[in-house]
Amino acid sequence: MPKKTEQSSSKKDLQKIPLLVRRNTIAFPKLVTQVMVMRANAQRALEHALEGNRKIVVVGRRNTRKRNYTAKDLYPMGTLATVGRMLKLPDGSSTVWLQGEQRVNLLDVVQTEPFFMAKVEPAEETVTDNLTVQALKRAVLALFEKAIELSPSLTDEMYIAAMNADSPGWLADLIASSLILEMKEHQKILQTLDIEKRLHVVNLHLAHEVEVLEIQTRINKQVQEELERTQREHILREQLRVIQKELGEVDPQFNEAQSLEDRIRNAHMPKQVSKKALEELSRLGHIPTASPENGVIRGYIDWLLSLPWKASTRDTLNIQEAARTLEQNHYGLPKVKERILEYLAVRKLAGKKLRSPVLCFIGPPGVGKTSLGKSIAKALGRKFVHISLGGIRDEAEIRGHRRTYVSALPGRIIQAMRNAETVNPVFMLDEIDKVGTDFRGDPSSALLEALDPEQNHSFSDHYLEVPYDLSRVLFITTGNILDPIIPALRDRMEIIELPGYTEEEKVEIANRFLIPNQLREHGLSRKQLSFAANTVQRIAREYTREAGVRNLEREIGSVCRKVARKVAEERKISPKISPQLLSKYLGAPHFSWGTAEQHDEIGVATGVARTEAGGDVLAVEATLMEGKGDLILTGQLGDVMKESAQAALSYSRSRSREWELSQEFFKSQDIHIHIPAGAIPKDGPSAGVTMTTALISILSKRAVRKEVAMTGEITLRGKVLPVGGIKEKVLAAHRAGITTFVLPKDNKGDLEEIPAKVRKSFNFVLVERIDEVLSTALCP
Ligand code: ADP
Repeated sequence: MPKKTEQSSSKKDLQKIPLLVRRNTIAFPKLVTQVMVMRANAQRALEHALEGNRKIVVVGRRNTRKRNYTAKDLYPMGTLATVGRMLKLPDGSSTVWLQGEQRVNLLDVVQTEPFFMAKVEPAEETVTDNLTVQALKRAVLALFEKAIELSPSLTDEMYIAAMNADSPGWLADLIASSLILEMKEHQKILQTLDIEKRLHVVNLHLAHEVEVLEIQTRINKQVQEELERTQREHILREQLRVIQKELGEVDPQFNEAQSLEDRIRNAHMPKQVSKKALEELSRLGHIPTASPENGVIRGYIDWLLSLPWKASTRDTLNIQEAARTLEQNHYGLPKVKERILEYLAVRKLAGKKLRSPVLCFIGPPGVGKTSLGKSIAKALGRKFVHISLGGIRDEAEIRGHRRTYVSALPGRIIQAMRNAETVNPVFMLDEIDKVGTDFRGDPSSALLEALDPEQNHSFSDHYLEVPYDLSRVLFITTGNILDPIIPALRDRMEIIELPGYTEEEKVEIANRFLIPNQLREHGLSRKQLSFAANTVQRIAREYTREAGVRNLEREIGSVCRKVARKVAEERKISPKISPQLLSKYLGAPHFSWGTAEQHDEIGVATGVARTEAGGDVLAVEATLMEGKGDLILTGQLGDVMKESAQAALSYSRSRSREWELSQEFFKSQDIHIHIPAGAIPKDGPSAGVTMTTALISILSKRAVRKEVAMTGEITLRGKVLPVGGIKEKVLAAHRAGITTFVLPKDNKGDLEEIPAKVRKSFNFVLVERIDEVLSTALCP
C-alpha cells in the first residue's frame, strides 16, 4: 500500500515560536478554536505573536494540578495556529480566536520568561488510503449522523462540514474536536499521526458517545411521558372546568371541595384541627375520585366535621330541681342521692376551677346505675351518652386504629362524642371492672388519659391524629365490683356503692316505676292490667333471685306481653293478676322461696358469698368415706379457698378428741368437701367458718340448723377474722329466708349500712371464735 506524507509549511518558517500553554483545551489543525486567556505570560505570548507574523503554537501540559509548570510538563506535540481576533475583557483576561494550521513537534524550549518560546518542526502524518480507511470513514460518518440526531449540542452544520472533509485525517480531527473528552484523550488523538489509527480511535469514542446519548434519550423520554400524562390530566380538568363554567354547569368535585372547605371553616375547630382538615382537603383535590385513597381522606374529613368542637349545652343546675328529678325517677337510695346532690352542688360552686373526681357507681346489675346517670344528665340539662367497656382488651377499641389500617375508625370514646353532638355531655362508661389487658395493649392507659383532668384536654385518638378536648365532659363510670378496677383508675374516682334492694324496696320500685313503664311500653292501660297486692312480691321471690330489679322488670314485661296479646285477640281475661294466676303467665316458679335448706341436716352448712349479682347463699357439703385420709375439694375452688379448707380440716383434727375420734380414724377416711354451684368458680377465705361447721357436723354427727347462715375467715387456732361484702351477704340471706346470721365481731360496723327493716328480721350473732359459731349452728 503506497504511503505519502502530508506537509504544508516549510521547516524554516517554524523555527522559534511563542507557546500558548493550555491545561484543558487542545487546538486541532484547520479548526477555529476560541480560548480564554487569563495568565500574564500567555497574554504576553499572544501579544508577541500579534506583533510579528501572528503565529503561535498551542500546546497542552500534563500535571494540570500544578500551578507553575516547566518545559518538562509540556506535551511533545502541539498545534501551530494563527492568532485571529483578540478581545480584552474588563477583568484583565482576554478571548482569542485561533485558526489551527498543523501539528508540530516541540524540539526545544528556548525561552521560559516572560513567556515560553520553543523551536518546533512540523509533525508528519502517515496517510494511508486503503479500504479499511474508506470503511472507517463511512462508519464514522454514520455514527456522527446518529450522534447529531440524538445530541442537542451538535449541529447539522457540523455534519455537513464532516461530509465535505477532504481528507480522512481532517475528518477525524473535526469529529474529535466535537466530542466531549478529557484533555488526555484529545491529546492522544492529536498525537496519532497514523490516519488509519486516528480514525479508529475516533470511531471508538464516537460509538461510546452514541451509546450514552441513546440511554440519555431513553431516560428523557420516560420522564417526559410521565410529566405529560399528569400535565395532560391537569390541563383537561382545567378545560373541563372552564367549559362547564361557560355552559353554566358546575363541576361537582370542585363544588364539593368548596362546600367542604366552607364547612371546615365554619366548624369552630381549634386552629390546629382546621389546619389539618384543610391540608387533607387539598390532598383530596389531587387524588382521582375513583381511587380508594380518596374515600379514606373523605371519611377522615367527615369525621372531623361531625365531631362537636364547640357546641355545648348550658348547665341548668338547680340543686332543688336536681333533687326533684332524682326523686321522680328513683325510689329509695337516700344516701346515694345525697352524695350525688353534694357532688353537683360542689361542681356548681367551684365551677371550672374544680378538678372534680369522676363518679363511679358500684353495684350489682339492675340497681339503677344507668338510670341514675341519665337523671344526672337530665338535671344538668346535658346530653347523655354511654359505652360499655365489658370485655375490651384492645387499646384500639378505645383509641381507634391508625388510618393506615383498612376501614379504620376512631375509638369508642370519640364515636360516643360524635353521638353526643356537644362537648359537655354526661358520659357513662359501663363495666369499668371488666376491662382486660393483653398483648393488644392496655385499654386502661387510654381510659386513664380520658378520665384524668390533667390530661384529658388533649385526648389522643389514633384515627383522629389531632388532640380532642374531653375536659368539659362529665364522666361517670359503673361496675359490679370494686376489686378488679386497677388502683390508678380507682384513685381518680369517687366511689358510690349501690348494694341492692330489699324485697319491700323491690315491690315498691315495681309498683311505682316498673309496672307503669311496662304498661306504657306495651300499650296497656291500668284498666286492662293490674297486679294484686302480693303478686309482685311473689314474682320477686319465686321468679327472680337478684340484688337489682332487672329480672323483675323482665318478668313484669312478660306478663304485660301475654296480656297484650290476649287483649289484641279480644279474648276475655281478668284484668287483675292474682298470685295464683302467675304460673299461667310465667310458668312454674324458678326458685323456691324459704330457707336455703328444707331440713336440719348433718354435713351441710349454709354459707353466704358476694357475687357479681350482689350476694348469694351456698350450701357447703361435707362427707366421709373409707379411704386413705385424703381431702377432696370440688366446686371450682380457687387457691385461697382450698387453703382455707385445709385450715378447716387441721382445726377439726386438732379437736377430734372431743368426738372420741382417733388419729387412725383420719388415716382411714377420705373427706370430701363440695361447694355448689359446681360450675361457677369461687374464691376467697370467707367460707372458712362454713366449711369448718360442715366438717365438724359430719365428724360429731350433729345436724346444722337450716335457718342459720354464716360467714368469716378461720385461723388454725379457731379464731374468726372479719370479711368483706357483709351488706350484700345479709341481703342475699334475707332473700333466702334465713333468720340467724353469724358473722365476725369485727364486722359489727357493717351492720349499720343495712336497711333497718332487714336488720330487724335477723338475729345477728357476732363471734370471735369458731366455738361460738358451732354452738349457734349445730343442733345439740
Ligand atoms: P344498672 O345500670 O345498675 O344495671 P339500670 O339503671 O339499667 O341498672 O336499671 C334497670 C331498671 O331498673 C331500669 O328500668 C331502672 O329504671 C330500674 N330501677 C333500678 N333502680 C330503681 C329505683 N331505685 N327506682 C326506680 N327504678 C329503678
